[in-house]
Parts: sequence; structure tokens; C-alpha cells
Amino acid sequence: MPSPIGPEIERLIQLLARLPGLGPRSARRAALTLIKKREQLLMPLADAIRTAADRVMVCSACGNVDTSDPCTICRDQRRDPSVLVVVEDVADLWALERAGVVNARYHVIGGVISALDGVRPEDLNLDKLVARAAEPALKEVILALNATVDGQTTAHYVTDLLSRYSLKITRLAHGVPVGSELDYLDEGTLAAAIRQRTAF
Ligand code: ZN
Repeated sequence: MPSPIGPEIERLIQLLARLPGLGPRSARRAALTLIKKREQLLMPLADAIRTAADRVMVCSACGNVDTSDPCTICRDQRRDPSVLVVVEDVADLWALERAGVVNARYHVIGGVISALDGVRPEDLNLDKLVARAAEPALKEVILALNATVDGQTTAHYVTDLLSRYSLKITRLAHGVPVGSELDYLDEGTLAAAIRQRTAF
């Protein structure tokens, strides 16, 4: 039986279904909402996606995503140059910025070491981290890694990697629930975890 949905709409649904939190059913509903709200939603979204596709890039210094390289945070002269916050993912960087507790720069390593998922240290953005660790102004590296087993394995690895520099290495306070992802924490919990950070 031929599909009642045209191939263009079918493609839209299939692409939407790949987004986190959207399965095929939600993707169909989302596609239908977009189509019904052509002027208010579909067209502006298409423009926003086109702009993002053309202009968004990964910061060569820290791994953040922005429309400039270096990114806005790396270029911000008001950031404290003595502190660097190491995060797994851009989502964690965004979460920390939302919480508004650190006025520092970040380094996005792009994942965690995981035997199960086959992620090795060389797969992560660590070479640039080591290079940044040698910056004379830097005094402290905060490991804002998730409290998962892999996150903590990675924290130990990074600590070893940076041990030749005389840096203070700290990690988030234990208020962070085990196994949680930073992105899911409310701002207050995240702020407390940063303020009460402990030496690693
Ligand atoms: Zn950057």
C-alpha cells in the first residue's frame, strides 16, 4: 500500500525523529504542527536552521559552539584567566552558564573515556587542554565532569595528564547526584556544587 504521506513530508518526519526525545510518533505530531503553522513556525524555523547550518562552528580553542571562532566566551576579556572549567559536552557548558556561578573559560573535551562505548583518551579533545594548562595565568582547573563511573575515570585521567603543571585541580562538590548529568540539574544545585568544589 502506498504511503499516504508524500516523500517530502516523510523526510521531514524521519529527520525530526532523530532528535533527542522525539520518537516516530512525536516526530509525526511535530511535523504536522509545523505544517499547520507554516507562517508562525515552519518558515521561521527553516530560516533559523539555515542560519545555524551556515554560521555555527566549533571554537578551535575550547570546543564550544558559536558563530565565531574563537567563541564569545573565549574572547570575553572579563573572564577570569586563572580558572578553566573542564566539561564533557557543550550542554554542560550551557548549564553552567545558565547557573551563572563561574566567570571563567571552559574546555569541552567532547565525551568521557568509556571501555563499553569504545571511547579512548585519544578520541577526546585533550591535547588542546594540555596546551592550555601551560598558560602562565592559569591557576585552577575545575573538573565539572558528570558523577558517572566514566566521568570519574576521565577525571582521574585528566588529573594525571595535568599533574606536571603546578595547578590546583578541583571537582564539583558531592551535592551532585551520582550518575546525573549536569545538564539536568537545576541552577541552584549546580551553583552549590561549584561553590563547594573540593580538591581532587
Ligand atoms: Zn571558545
